[in-house]
Amino acid sequence: MKSLSKILEKWEPVIGLEVHAQLSTDTKMFCGCRNMYGDPPNTHTCPVCLGLPGALPVANEKAIEYTLKLGLALGCKISLKSHFARKNYFYPDLPKGYQISQYNEPLCLGGSVTIRQNGELKEIPLIRIHLEEDAGKSIHSADEKGTKIDFNRCGVPLVEIVSAPEIRSPKEAREYLIRLKQILQYLGICNCHMEQGNLRCDANISLRRKGEKPFGIRTEMKNMNSFRGVERALFFEINRQAGLLESGKEVVQETRLWNESEQKAEVMRGKEDAPDYRYFPEPDLVPMVITEKQLASIRSDLVELPHEKEDRMLSDYGIRLNDAIILASDVHLVDYFEQIVELGVDPQEAVKWMLGVMLRVLKDEIYIIESFPIKPNRLATLLKAVGNGIVNINTAKSVFQKMLTSDKTATQIIKEEGLMQVSDSEKLRTIIEGILLHHPDEVSRYRDGKKGLFGFFMGQIMRKTRGQSTPKIVKEILTEILDGNKT
Ligand code: ADP
Ligand code: MG
Ligand code: ZN
Repeated sequence: MKSLSKILEKWEPVIGLEVHAQLSTDTKMFCGCRNMYGDPPNTHTCPVCLGLPGALPVANEKAIEYTLKLGLALGCKISLKSHFARKNYFYPDLPKGYQISQYNEPLCLGGSVTIRQNGELKEIPLIRIHLEEDAGKSIHSADEKGTKIDFNRCGVPLVEIVSAPEIRSPKEAREYLIRLKQILQYLGICNCHMEQGNLRCDANISLRRKGEKPFGIRTEMKNMNSFRGVERALFFEINRQAGLLESGKEVVQETRLWNESEQKAEVMRGKEDAPDYRYFPEPDLVPMVITEKQLASIRSDLVELPHEKEDRMLSDYGIRLNDAIILASDVHLVDYFEQIVELGVDPQEAVKWMLGVMLRVLKDEIYIIESFPIKPNRLATLLKAVGNGIVNINTAKSVFQKMLTSDKTATQIIKEEGLMQVSDSEKLRTIIEGILLHHPDEVSRYRDGKKGLFGFFMGQIMRKTRGQSTPKIVKEILTEILDGNKT
């Protein structure tokens, strides 16, 4: 394989992504069946989603609202009149023989997703966002004959977000996907569990000679199951297409399946064109009419987008961009942060704690922030105790560990276990004098000039006070006793 940088000297990648996101509504798109992942197969089905004769679909209002929410958040033009269309194709997981989708007049047109590349904001324009229904799931197992089909997923509301071919590198593609996922999470309209198939991406890519305008012939890749997978699949395809083009051959427009274990994309089928699907307006559903009033109400409770949140964290709390990016990457994490700051914790201390202690605990002990046992008010009390010098940071870490498995407040644990820092200087002085009396030899060697023994005394004192003494005060008293004339 040629090195990528060598290829990129001559060829420019042109990438467009089609992302399918399942909407987290309670029920399916056109029937009252529950929209639920992980239940026993075929337990959420009815005549509508099984495509039985005579069954009639009714559109899910919530799904339409969610789509509009996304469209408005991304600055799309909303079609006030919109309709569903039948997309006809035969596949075992599609019992009706067609998918209800949108063709002309999708709900949302245009708009963009803002990404950050090397610190700079860049807008990736969108072509459209439309609403459709998911298909069922075919289950092929190696040791059993045949294919089993689970129709629980059949009819789950799905939005398709189609980017313009304006993405210029695999890294940019990954960044776009990360942002889009964050946005869906911020808006609370998709669960975004890739392993459950909530979020799926097809990647279209072509190469053009650097400096040229017209696009080359593209291929489409499917079946990537992570954002890294998309990035790797794009690298693979850049290499393959460059190889063809440089040896004077043509790229064939086709759909390829990414094989993660072999790290290559294999031909799946030639690319269908729209006429193959014989689209026509869905006769069983009335056209959708969206009112300005409806849009105004959705617009009024739109939330900040991730990149806006990051910028505001810099200006409101003075924290570093990199830290803001980590916090804002998860809407629940950044909510948690803002809650403890609201409760009076210093933002810098909150960042230090959340990035330094909390993220590790979340990861090592496999908690998710939404159900984290220490709620913001409990952590705020603990961090304020650190700020007020009641406990030091190390004690706070052990209190934090205890709070994970107990309902007690930080204050209770600190009191019950006597963990307050010993900063009462008379009490400290007595302890220090006791220790020095136990080490007469070291004291005289210190006074004879072995100043390195200072650390030894500090260590003894910290151990005796179980790390709860304030080092600065200990140092002061110790210096005074050792270097002064007292014995
Ligand atoms: P289709 O209807 O076949 O799915 P679209 O025109 O809707 O085709 O485009 C699908 C995706 O392919 C979009 O994300 C678009 O940006 C991308 N795309 C279109 N042409 C090219 C190209 N020449 N190179 C790379 N991506 C492309
Ligand atoms: Mg398409
Ligand atoms: Zn149903």
